[in-house]
Amino acid sequence: MKIAIIGAGIIGVTTAYELAADGHEVHVFERRNSACEETSFANAGVISPGYVTPWAAPGMPSKVLKYLFQKHAPVRIQLPLKHGELSWISQWLKACKPAIYENTRSSLKSLASYSADRLQSLTKTLDLEYDKAQGYMVLLRGEQELHRIQANLKILADTGYEYKVLDADAARKIEPALSAATALHSALHLPNDTVANCRQFALLLREKAQSLGAQFHFGSMQNHIERGSQGVRLSGESFDQVIICAGVDSAALLKPLGIHIPLIPVYGYSVSASVREPMDAPVSGVMDERYKVAISRIGNRVRVAGSAEIGGDPTRINQAAIQTLYKVLDDWFPAAADTKGQTASNGRGQVQVWKGARPMLPSGPPRVGASGVQNVWLNLGHGSSGWALACGSARLLADQIAGRKTAIDF
Ligand SMILES: Cc1cc2nc3c(=O)[nH]c(=O)nc-3n(C[C@H](O)[C@H](O)[C@H](O)COP(=O)(O)OP(=O)(O)OC[C@H]3O[C@@H](n4cnc5c(N)ncnc54)[C@H](O)[C@@H]3O)c2cc1C
Repeated sequence: MKIAIIGAGIIGVTTAYELAADGHEVHVFERRNSACEETSFANAGVISPGYVTPWAAPGMPSKVLKYLFQKHAPVRIQLPLKHGELSWISQWLKACKPAIYENTRSSLKSLASYSADRLQSLTKTLDLEYDKAQGYMVLLRGEQELHRIQANLKILADTGYEYKVLDADAARKIEPALSAATALHSALHLPNDTVANCRQFALLLREKAQSLGAQFHFGSMQNHIERGSQGVRLSGESFDQVIICAGVDSAALLKPLGIHIPLIPVYGYSVSASVREPMDAPVSGVMDERYKVAISRIGNRVRVAGSAEIGGDPTRINQAAIQTLYKVLDDWFPAAADTKGQTASNGRGQVQVWKGARPMLPSGPPRVGASGVQNVWLNLGHGSSGWALACGSARLLADQIAGRKTAIDF
C-alpha cells in the first residue's frame, strides 16, 4: 500500500520504519527540516516500563491541588485556561476513578513492556549505536515518598517485575556521585530499565527506514486531509492510507474529518549541559519522586527534565520551573554538569534550555489504530512516555494495518 504519515517525531519515525519493513511505500510529511525537532527533541530519555503509570490516577486530583501552592511544584497551571483545557481537566477527573485507572494502567504497562522488548530487538537486529545507560532509580527523600510509591511497588511485585527497594547506602553504591549533603531515605531501583537518547535513535532508525524505501518530505506542512472514494489526498497526491503522528497538533488535523480527540499540550522543560567531571555525574538515570524531576546521563551530557504545565504558550519559558530543575540537579549532582559559566543572563553557562509539549490524552494510554474514518489511522497521544511507548505502538499499528493479530491486546 501507499501510506502517508504526518509527523516525524519519535512516533512518526518508528511507524515509518515498521511500515517500510512490512513492504509498504511510505511517505512521511514533516513541517520541520529534520526529524524529532519538537517534543521528541530533548526529553529525559527514560524507558521505564516498570514505572510508567497514567497521569489520571486515584488521589492525583488532591495531589495536584496541593502542588499548586508549592514553590517547586511538579505540576503548574498557567491561567487563563482555554475551553479545550477545561474540558480536558473534566475528562481527566473522570479517568482518575479507580475502575478506569485499573484498565488504563494495565494497558499502559503491557504496551510499555512490549515496546521495551521491540526497542531492544530493533537495536540488536539493526545494529543501532546510540547513547544509552542501564538502570533507573527513583530517589525517595523521606518516609512520605516511600509511602507514596507503595501502590507502584505492589504492582511491580504482582507482575513479577524486577526491582529492589534500597537503603541510602546501597543506592549510593549504584550512583556514587549522589551528593551526601542531600538526605536520601531510600530508593527504588529498576535494574532492567534504561535511559537513552530518543532523538539519536530516531535519526538512526530514519536512515534504516530510508534504506527500505521510505521517503521523508521535510519542510512539508500538511493542513488538509482530503478524503476520496479509494483513499486520501495530501498536497494533491493520492495515498491508500494516512497515519496521524502529529503530536500535540494531531487533534486540529483530525477535527475537519469529524474526529474529535481530547488532546492538550502539557508542557515540560529540560536543561542539558556537558558533563564536567564523569565521576561527579550520574551513571544512568534517577528520578526525584518529591519533585518529579529526572536527571539522566545522555552520552557526555547531563539532562535534567521535569515539570508539567497546563495552559500558557509553547514559547514562554517559565523561569520558576527552570529553577526547580536546577535545584534538583544541585541537590543530587552539584558538580556533574557545566552549568555555571558567565555567558548566560541567568548566571549559568552554555546550556540548552528546552520546552516541549507532551501530547496528553485525559486517561493515559495513546490512541493506536483505526480512527473510525476509513483510511485514516492514529498513532498519537503518548503523553509523558512517548519514547518508552514508541517502538511497540508502531509495531502494533503496522500489524493492524496488515490485518495481522497484534502481539498484545491493546
Ligand atoms: C520535559 C519532557 C520530558 C519527557 N521525558 C520523557 C521520558 O523520559 N521518556 C518518555 O518516554 N517520554 C518522555 N517525554 C514524552 C515524549 O517526549 C513524547 O511523548 C514524545 O516525544 C511524543 O512524540 P510524537 O512523535 O508524538 O510528537 P513530536 O515529537 O512532537 O512529533 C510530532 C511531529 O509532527 C510534526 N507535525 C505536527 N503537525 C504537522 C503538520 N500539520 N504537518 C506536518 N508535520 C506536522 C511536528 O513538527 C513534529 O515533528 C517527555 C516529554 C517532555 C516534554
